[in-house]
Amino acid sequence: MKSLKLKAALLAAAAAFVLSACGDEKSAQQAAFETVDKIDGQTMGTFYSVTVPGGYTGGSKALKNEAESAFKEVIDAISTFDSHAEIARFNEFKSCEPFEVSPYLAKILEEIQHTSRRINFATDITVGPLVNLWGFGPEARPEKEPSQLEIDEVRAYVGPDRFEIRQGKIPHLIKADPRVKLDLSTVGEGLGADALAARLDQQGVENYMVAIAGAIRSKGVNPRGQQWRVGIENPVNPSAAPFAVVCPMGMGMSTSGTYRNFFIDENTGERFSHIIDPISGKPIKHRTVSVTVIAQSTLETDTLDTGLMVMGADAALKWAEENEAAIYTVEINDKGEPVGRYSRYMEPYLKCQAPKDRLHRND
Ligand code: FAD
Repeated sequence: MKSLKLKAALLAAAAAFVLSACGDEKSAQQAAFETVDKIDGQTMGTFYSVTVPGGYTGGSKALKNEAESAFKEVIDAISTFDSHAEIARFNEFKSCEPFEVSPYLAKILEEIQHTSRRINFATDITVGPLVNLWGFGPEARPEKEPSQLEIDEVRAYVGPDRFEIRQGKIPHLIKADPRVKLDLSTVGEGLGADALAARLDQQGVENYMVAIAGAIRSKGVNPRGQQWRVGIENPVNPSAAPFAVVCPMGMGMSTSGTYRNFFIDENTGERFSHIIDPISGKPIKHRTVSVTVIAQSTLETDTLDTGLMVMGADAALKWAEENEAAIYTVEINDKGEPVGRYSRYMEPYLKCQAPKDRLHRND
């Protein structure tokens, strides 16, 4: 491979998109709410939108301030693109001495590790050095495909046991190797959506939809007074009609996909996804192009969806059946067509019928 070429913009748009809140809105006379505050913008290298049917106290400007303040809290803790962020500083700390972190960051890391353990660390937040090696991180892009030797060298300091979270009055992180780096990019959008949803819940906002790229938190009803509906993109033609439609019903939802962020080898035409298999140390190569997960929070769904992508649809669906998880996978068949499959726990969301124990989670 002479050179790798970025094919899809890093500013990846949502892998799932919100219906009923924008494109197919009815006229003002049919709307259930007189006021709807809607904002959008960019955060964490991607796009976000927030809709509050019934209006937000202080209007759109106040909503935007609240959203960006919530997102900033997340960025200040976990960004690897901002050298002042806690994780970026930890990554630059080339020592195995304890490194002091905020209770917020320590708590997030505990939650991520807890969820990652459920899928045998197919989502592995120590994978950052491999992400950089393959040219998908904040560091320079590679001129050529990394050799097996280079991959093995980096794998020596990648793995869930390569760092420790030491809780206490002042929490610390400890590296097992000074070269260890953490990469929380895969959960950033989910964390951001959860952070803003928590603030809106605390303020008593009854209806909202928060979407950061493919991570979505919603509550109550849409501007027409109906259940929120979210489309899962058609990975073959993302601008076409949604491939499937679900009602998240107050749950967190996110999608991980390989069809927007990838490199093409200009010589061979080979495609390299931005999702790395922590075992092989290489970008995943299989026919599964997206996995959507619905669970209690978007931190949980965002942690699961990447690892389930690594596992591929067959193993992911088997895991979901055994673990009562709601997932929807899309694969590409021999004819190049997308094929959707889902676990039985996803059915109620596809039918917009909430499981009894999960109905109106936020109410
Ligand atoms: P997902 O599918 O959710 O996750 C893939 C990403 O996770 C990969 O890109 C890699 O980083 C990592 N990963 C790959 N394999 C694994 C694995 N097996 N386990 C765990 N992780 C894995 N981008 C910019 O260009 N400019 C910015 O200023 C910028 N700022 C950011 C700030 C924050 C706080 C965050 C979280 C991200 C930022 N990004 C920025 C990154 C960018 O938006 C990422 O592309 C995005 O976060 C990855 O999300 P995704 O939905 O594309 O990928």
